Amino acid sequence: MNLRRRYLALFITTGTIFLAGFVLSFIFELNGMLKEHPAIAILLIILVPAVISAAMFFFMRFTQETQKKINLENENLYALGKKTTFFNLASFEVRVSLLKKSFLNRKKKQYITIFSAANQSVMENTSHDESIISFSAKIADFLTSYFDKDKGLLHRDSAFAYNKGLFYVYTVSDEDDHIKNLVNAISNDLFRIAEDEDLHVWVQPFFGVTEVNYESPLIEDIENASIARDVSERNFESLTFYHESFRKHSSKSEIDEITKALTNNEFVVYYQPKFSLTAKRFVSSEALVRWNSPTHGLLEPSKFIFIAENAGLIHSIDTYVFNRVCEDLNEAKRKGRRVLPVSINFSLHEFYSMNFLDSVISTIEKHDINPSLIEIEITESTSQTNTFMASSVIRKLRDHGIRVLMDDFGVGFSNIGNLRKMPFDAVKIDKSFIDNIESDKKASAIVKFLIELCQANELEVIAEGVDNKDQVEVLKKAKCDTIQGFYYSRPIPKAEYEKFLISNPFERKEGKR
Ligand code: C2E
Ligand code: CA
Ligand code: CA
Repeated sequence: MNLRRRYLALFITTGTIFLAGFVLSFIFELNGMLKEHPAIAILLIILVPAVISAAMFFFMRFTQETQKKINLENENLYALGKKTTFFNLASFEVRVSLLKKSFLNRKKKQYITIFSAANQSVMENTSHDESIISFSAKIADFLTSYFDKDKGLLHRDSAFAYNKGLFYVYTVSDEDDHIKNLVNAISNDLFRIAEDEDLHVWVQPFFGVTEVNYESPLIEDIENASIARDVSERNFESLTFYHESFRKHSSKSEIDEITKALTNNEFVVYYQPKFSLTAKRFVSSEALVRWNSPTHGLLEPSKFIFIAENAGLIHSIDTYVFNRVCEDLNEAKRKGRRVLPVSINFSLHEFYSMNFLDSVISTIEKHDINPSLIEIEITESTSQTNTFMASSVIRKLRDHGIRVLMDDFGVGFSNIGNLRKMPFDAVKIDKSFIDNIESDKKASAIVKFLIELCQANELEVIAEGVDNKDQVEVLKKAKCDTIQGFYYSRPIPKAEYEKFLISNPFERKEGKR
């Protein structure tokens, strides 16, 4: 109830008490009751009006609540085709605020997850479309049954809402894989439901997640999850965890700076060679971007990739890098120099942009490059069902002679199951697994196991971030195929890389430091 209504209710209540008291005392006066039984009369004078006004007050409140519920239901009827208050954003906020406080002292993690089934603008603009309403309603049903059935959490520590093409989910969990499982389950179902509906949108879910911050108001958590979802959408990532840099760093001036850097060709490609232990020579390299900024100097990707991702400029950078690599390869070919395949980093979700394959092929053709000189590194950061779609693109790339590598294996969303599901040519074991293998028996056992696992699946294994001889020895014993790391070479600029290739011919038996 707002303040004006409260005053009005107070005014009506006091008015009623006075009026009823006046009427009653008049009647009692007439009957002489006030003189004979003054105590009872006074009690009645106070009690009767109080009961009447309390009844009125509750009646008003009830009608107000009913009206509010009807409004909420109508809103949901409009959005989801069903009369329920359950999925309304306003009730979500009230419920989650209460839950947030109730979990304050129990050391459990709380999350807000916001997702859309496709681009938010598409979902919002088509949200009055009958098939979208029925689609959204089925997602709503799925959420209800998921929490109800599997976790029994529905009325304890979860809440949902739907508003303008976005679903809001609040969960509490201590499990490490909680968000991963949640996102997988929702994605799987989204695709299943989409198949049943005759949808005219390209279903591509985007998730944004934030851990609830006890110290800030709920509205800020919701905003954070929403920002993370926007970042997912801009970068074609399925899931983004909120990071405070999303607010701090994407100032307009920084975005303008990157845009300007792209036009001014300030980005440069460095190459880091990969050494094959089996062939005993350098067999390829990875293209790694650097920003040669006139104001900040030479910047490594960690300083600007997230700003670019945040600003939706990562595609432009990747395309730029890809073109530069093709130009360099073409130049080397024209000059009759030796060339080795180069791998380029792309986000897996770029695979979903409909023209990804065509643009890769046309870029290669434009620069007259043999497709076997191009490898694509993708980081497995997405849910199970998407792997099906990604697999088909990977297969097509391979049909064109382009090798595809799974980057950062072992961290994030990459999992052993996906090794079998997705037709990669090679797997890059993340640096975090390589660190300490020379001194830590457990670490080396894990790496050995990962290598065996990949090789059992007929995949080439590349170890990343190898920076000393002892690590190389461990990897040799574990029968690792290829090594990339500072031990053999740091990422080096084009001119240096050309010299490197000349001084490290094909027949070379051992890498150099
Ligand atoms: P990444 O794809 O995992 O690349 C490998 C990173 O590990 C590179 O860092 C490389 O310099 C570093 N590294 C290699 N060997 C060693 C080693 O022995 N010791 C240590 N400490 N580090 C080693 P870099 O160049 O800073 O790149 C960081 C990340 O930025 C890359 O990780 C990749 O995710 C991203 N990135 C770089 N270039 C591009 C690009 O063109 N497009 C996209 N989308 N991402 C890029
Ligand atoms: Ca990489
Ligand atoms: Ca990597």
